Amino acid sequence: MVPRRLSGSGDSFAGYRARLVEALRAKGIGDLAVLKAFAETPRHLFVPEAVRHRAYEDVALPIGNDQTISQPFTQARYLEALGLRGKERVLEIGTGSGYQTALLAALAATVFSVERVESLARAAQAALREAGVANVSVLHGDGTLGWSAYAPYDAILVAAGGPEIPPPLVEQLAPGGRLLIPVGARGAQTLTLVERGDTGTRRIPLGEAHFVPLVGEHGFDA
Ligand code: SAH
Repeated sequence: MVPRRLSGSGDSFAGYRARLVEALRAKGIGDLAVLKAFAETPRHLFVPEAVRHRAYEDVALPIGNDQTISQPFTQARYLEALGLRGKERVLEIGTGSGYQTALLAALAATVFSVERVESLARAAQAALREAGVANVSVLHGDGTLGWSAYAPYDAILVAAGGPEIPPPLVEQLAPGGRLLIPVGARGAQTLTLVERGDTGTRRIPLGEAHFVPLVGEHGFDA
């Protein structure tokens, strides 16, 4: 079977998706590339059957293993902050359902995504295939170590909150690159943007965030 992107009016969820996009716009998301990514990405393929009827509500949903697929509005703000323009190589830590991976794949050239829970990594890979997303690679492993084989990255997005910024991620950031990570205690973090310049890095706090814990060598203990 030839994989295809489930987009436009070709599937029965398109109307719901359009409403989600309107909700994001009403909440202040203005980046047209980001809105287009939401309009084209089939979130229903990334949530469990039991909550599929809620796939296009602007809420976080459970995906198993005590993990959640983040609220679309939060993801949209995140994606706006990365300012992707289509040519980037992106590293994502915390694949989860794979939905954000698919959004990144719509906004950048290539996405490498690392997930520490093997069953989630496998399910995400299957959903990404079903959605026809081809420019992504998923690795089962500890994302606090990054994915050195494909470094450097123009953008790195961490979808779980850690106690510190993992040094390997800063090392794997290209000059001019941007790293977004929630930093702080379990359950209450500050979304932090790290920009790598020619002479060093700059940290910019972007506000409060509530993400599941980043667990790993440069994260929290399991
Ligand atoms: N953005 C995702 C939700 C991510 S939830 C979505 O759209 O569905 C955060 C994910 O980070 C969880 O799946 C969790 O298992 C994973 N995670 C936590 N610590 C990690 C680590 N060190 N490396 C890779 N993934 C990690």
